[in-house]
Amino acid sequence: MDWLTNLVWHDGKFLGIEWTVWKIIGWIGNAVFFSRFFVQWYATEKLKRVVVPAAFWWLSLAGSLLLLSYALFYRGDSVFIFAYAFTWIPYIRNLVIHHRHAAAHLDCLSCGQTCPPNSRFCFSCGTRLIDIEKAPV
Ligand SMILES: [Zn+2]
Repeated sequence: MDWLTNLVWHDGKFLGIEWTVWKIIGWIGNAVFFSRFFVQWYATEKLKRVVVPAAFWWLSLAGSLLLLSYALFYRGDSVFIFAYAFTWIPYIRNLVIHHRHAAAHLDCLSCGQTCPPNSRFCFSCGTRLIDIEKAPV
């Protein structure tokens, strides 16, 4: 068990790392960013088709912003800063598209089922759907 103790506590440091507030922020950023893969994998396995849930983009955004702040304020490394400087743009754009798509779903007035955007008829009961946003007043 000495090898395990030596692995966890190395040179008087936990995992051999010199821990600072910025190191903690950087490692949290790594953990958040890495966790998105499990979220996407789980969603894909659950539906048995490739899907990218909104949680994936939220984790991407949060993780990359934490890593960008670590790179900017702690490392000051131009390569590291550039790697995360612009990744937030597609993450936010995908979150906006997710939100718009979710908001465009239509509720069936007969059975209450939520139907995909641009549906003409309820897939559950067959009732003609009315898009309240587009309906004449
Ligand atoms: Zn219906």
